[in-house]
Amino acid sequence: MSDHDFISGSKPIGIERGEGVSLYTADGTEYLDAGASYACTPLGHSHPVVVDAVQKQVANLTFVDSSFPVESREDAYAALVAATPDGLDSAWFCNSGTESNEAALKFARSATGNSKIIAATRSFHGRTMGSLAATWKDKYKAPYEPLAGDVEFVPYGDSDELADAVDDETAAVILEPIQGEGGINVPPAGYLETARELTDEAGVALVFDEVQTGMGRTGSMWACQNAGVTPDVLTTAKGLGNGLPIGAVAVRDWIADGAASHNATFSGGPVVTAAVHATITTLVEEGYPAHAAAMGDYLTTELEAALGDEVREIRGEGLLIGIELKRGANRVARDLAMNEQVLALPAGRTVLRLLSPLVIDESEADRLVDALHAVIAPDTDAES
Ligand code: PMP
Repeated sequence: MSDHDFISGSKPIGIERGEGVSLYTADGTEYLDAGASYACTPLGHSHPVVVDAVQKQVANLTFVDSSFPVESREDAYAALVAATPDGLDSAWFCNSGTESNEAALKFARSATGNSKIIAATRSFHGRTMGSLAATWKDKYKAPYEPLAGDVEFVPYGDSDELADAVDDETAAVILEPIQGEGGINVPPAGYLETARELTDEAGVALVFDEVQTGMGRTGSMWACQNAGVTPDVLTTAKGLGNGLPIGAVAVRDWIADGAASHNATFSGGPVVTAAVHATITTLVEEGYPAHAAAMGDYLTTELEAALGDEVREIRGEGLLIGIELKRGANRVARDLAMNEQVLALPAGRTVLRLLSPLVIDESEADRLVDALHAVIAPDTDAES
């Protein structure tokens, strides 16, 4: 069962195949993916380079334990370390975003010798006992208490409250550079820099959860690069394997040296790392982060013109866009799917989130704007 239940009770869509930003049902109906793949397919569906790499790998060697060197893992590792910000020179593969944050919090504790974790209100970091403890929503946590202990929440975006919370008992400050599940919340200018200064002064690990913001989506490979801030630990997953399940944790040397270790049987398996290598090299070589920046600007400008006063705010960076609605986001997402063949996800009660594959072009963006206009602002003149 999914948390995104806006479609339940409606006629099932039954997606059979995908190509680029399009998804198709068995009867050939086409849907525009404006977030249905949840930031997991930055290169679009069935990208030929990824498909080819995965098919070859699965045919040659599907699995061997990570104690034994395998070319696809080594290539993916090198591509990942090259693509992460300078200073993050070691990495671990794992199987999901949740696990990457779980590992990040463990690493921060082992490297600092401290236990306190500072997380933000409206954060989402995952559903295991540690990552869930650092996640804000009570609804997710209450049935499972007690979770991992010693987590303190501070209001997201408030530098003063963060300064009050960071002390010499603190192991980590964990933040999303832009909050995803919490409603596409962009922090005030200077917030991430302040977090960097405070954690540097106190010897605390600064963890950026880039599970939703990373892999080129915000116009840079990582959202923290837009703010010019490098964390001690960066976590990634979702788009890392263009739809195959894999996560990673990239760290500075002092974290790696602090007895950090994390592993699981399937971590960095040959097939998923073949996907990672193909995804990162294609993203970088074909300049998709810059394309995401340009398309994000285009889409935001067009959306402002088409939706205007019918929405409260349009915010985000690149192709991570939140539309703060004047009514429920579930209803809007359902109407988009059923009436306009556009698939997007809510992020909270009143925010519709757009997370199209980065390969979206202007005509596809225009179609998305027209669909949103038809659902959100049907009584006003279309601008686009
Ligand atoms: N962190 C963030 C910022 C996320 O958006 C998500 C997933 N929505 C996660 C962690 C958890 O990732 P996964 O579902 O791959 O475990």
